Amino acid sequence: MAATERTLVLLKPDAVARGLTGRLVQRFEDAGLKIVGLKMKHMDADFTRKHYFDLEERFGKGVYDATATYMQQGPVIALLLEGVDAVANVRRMIGTTFPAQAAPGTIRGDFAHMSKTYAEGTGKAIANLVHASGSVDEAKYEAQLWFADEEQFDYQTLAERYVF
Ligand code: UDP
Ligand code: MG
Repeated sequence: MAATERTLVLLKPDAVARGLTGRLVQRFEDAGLKIVGLKMKHMDADFTRKHYFDLEERFGKGVYDATATYMQQGPVIALLLEGVDAVANVRRMIGTTFPAQAAPGTIRGDFAHMSKTYAEGTGKAIANLVHASGSVDEAKYEAQLWFADEEQFDYQTLAERYVF
């Protein structure tokens, strides 16, 4: 059965530096996802390790180090979003990890184009604008990592109050 879930989105340093915050947040609001947490943060090395705790295991030290440098280049904006099957729906909206393969209409497909081959050749991280939790378990871990209980909100949107 479809469930209401909460999922973490990060607008990564390239998205913030490019001034895309408003447009990217708008996409999630337009889709009817509810913002239940919001903050800006400059990640440090320890926090990056906690957020990407299995990245080195999955891709090796080179990718981890490049990604950690990328994520600490500037502040990020963290959003906790709520909606029906929010984890899968938000992943669908951001597109696949490598922008060169991300479908047009997705955030990564519309606002970036870098390929995995280029990133590997240059030793750069894939600057792909956004992070979103990859599974329901990851979402639960990331929600509590990024937002204290009192930073996670409950309220009714107008649609919930008048439409559903
Ligand atoms: N990443 C990278 N090169 C790779 C794999 C990952 O630069 O070969 C970076 C990229 O920014 C990616 C992040 O590490 O978004 C996390 O990787 P993951 O596989 O979890 O992708 P995501 O869940 O972000 O789509
Ligand atoms: Mg991931």
